[in-house]
Amino acid sequence: MRIVIKIGSSTLTHKSGKLNIRRVEQLCKIISDIKNEGHEIIMVSSGAIAMGVGKMNLSKKPDDVESKQALAAVGQCELMYVYDKLFSEYNHCVAQILVTGADLEDEVRRTNFQHTLYKLLEMNALPIINENDTIATSEIAVGDNDTLGAIVATNIQADLLILLSDIDGLYTADPHKDPNARLIHEVRVLDEEILSLAGGAGSELGTGGMQTKLNAAKLCMEHNCDMIIANGEKPENLYKIIEKEVVGTYFHAKKY
Ligand code: GLU
Repeated sequence: MRIVIKIGSSTLTHKSGKLNIRRVEQLCKIISDIKNEGHEIIMVSSGAIAMGVGKMNLSKKPDDVESKQALAAVGQCELMYVYDKLFSEYNHCVAQILVTGADLEDEVRRTNFQHTLYKLLEMNALPIINENDTIATSEIAVGDNDTLGAIVATNIQADLLILLSDIDGLYTADPHKDPNARLIHEVRVLDEEILSLAGGAGSELGTGGMQTKLNAAKLCMEHNCDMIIANGEKPENLYKIIEKEVVGTYFHAKKY
């Protein structure tokens, strides 16, 4: 299978913005193993800004664009350093790709992006994609990595997009507020009822929430790519997904 795995900031870092070492080590080990099994993996990783916050010892993510862009520049290096170090332990070679929304809207640049990705997969490298936050202001940005994950997955004909987040999946109500909230295991049609469940915002360090995840699901389902929202706090969920166990919320693509 060709699988895009999107990892959210809250999965990679503690609330302080510092790296969650145990989590990231487990994730890199399991992703390496899944690659060794023969699956093609592309990662979309958030965490640049969060890791910049941690590295510069700030108490919280700043609100102004310039500070966030500067922190992304600091944090992106740290992020790739960690991935390079951990994946190298399992003999996998990482490759960084940074894009903006404007790059992906431009036909020529999008085609270049696709060709590079296909070539990296052919070389058995592990592409790790993030938005180029240092230059992407709101006018040209994709804006969140759930959407970026879906754009990547649909541009390279992936079979599956996995969104690893700090929530188990899509619930019938906000599980932090409603004790009767139930996890929805399968979605075959994104109707108004499902879309109305998007509700609240995401974590403090990341950008996305359930709204961006459902937007990603819409894009994937329309382009023949399945999507799963699963909890990144349990990296072994990735094995379960590969073994077709029921994990999180599965969005079934329309099959043509
Ligand atoms: N590109 C952002 C970062 O690396 C994250 C965007 C998101 O959380 O969706 O910090």
